[in-house]
Amino acid sequence: MPAPEAQDRRLDGNAAAGPLAELFTVDLTAAMATCAGCGSTAPLAAHVLYADAPAMVVRCPSCTYVVLRFAADGAGLRLDLTGARLITVTPPAEPSAAG
Ligand SMILES: [Zn+2]
Repeated sequence: MPAPEAQDRRLDGNAAAGPLAELFTVDLTAAMATCAGCGSTAPLAAHVLYADAPAMVVRCPSCTYVVLRFAADGAGLRLDLTGARLITVTPPAEPSAAG
């Protein structure tokens, strides 16, 4: 478990949707992320987000390992997925031909 002060800073992973939309055209909060630390898989929205660090930090809900780091500043958009063994994005459903 993170230290008590860390628990006060954390947000729901859904809060990562806006910043990540700058880099990705799909909503990654529905993507499944497999943690490189413990191997558990969960939707990105179910992860724990720390948005007040120099970079946005997304941690595994099972083991708190850093799964994703993202920074947007004058140097550009930087994404570190070292802590994600796998990210799976389900493509959006095709519009129905019937109708
Ligand atoms: Zn983990």
